[in-house]
Amino acid sequence: MAKFKFACEDIGMKCDFHASEKTKEALLGKIVEHAKTAHDIKEITPDLQKKVDGAIKKSLF
Ligand SMILES: [Zn+2]
Repeated sequence: MAKFKFACEDIGMKCDFHASEKTKEALLGKIVEHAKTAHDIKEITPDLQKKVDGAIKKSLF
């Protein structure tokens, strides 16, 4: 089953947060939650959204 992965450091954050989920939607939810609690990012701007989208990796395992 495919998995979607994200690491905060991939968008230039000095942070060791990693997440993986079966769907991109679930992963995005986790990322938004993490951004709020860990980075005090209350709003995902289109620019940040682009960065996050580009950093999400799809893995087949
Ligand atoms: Zn982070």
